Amino acid sequence: MDKKNPNLTVEQNLVMFEDGTEPPGSSELNNEKRDGFYHCANCDVKLFSSNSKYESGSGWPSFFQSLPDVFDTKTDHLLGYPRTEYHCKNCDAHHGHIFDDGPQPTGKRYCNNGICLVFKKKS
Ligand SMILES: [Zn+2]
Repeated sequence: MDKKNPNLTVEQNLVMFEDGTEPPGSSELNNEKRDGFYHCANCDVKLFSSNSKYESGSGWPSFFQSLPDVFDTKTDHLLGYPRTEYHCKNCDAHHGHIFDDGPQPTGKRYCNNGICLVFKKKS
């Protein structure tokens, strides 16, 4: 089943629907520190608040928490070991992986491809 969205770029479709990964450090959102929300670039659902964003040093936008009930997860072995992949519950687009090295209170790191997100500043 091809879920690709013709309104997205080739790179966005590659990451969101073929489990690709953008190059680290390539996203402008790494440096985004304003108040607002991060939406799914495919379906526009709100996924993260800027309150849960932090600088992980990984080269990808990182969050210690998503908004409630916006993602489904599955385990993938694309790198030869198990990782927790997460994708938008609403449209199935892949966003990134969850790691256990995040800051408190959750200890989680949502490592999100920046091109899968659209930031909307709080007005
Ligand atoms: Zn979505």
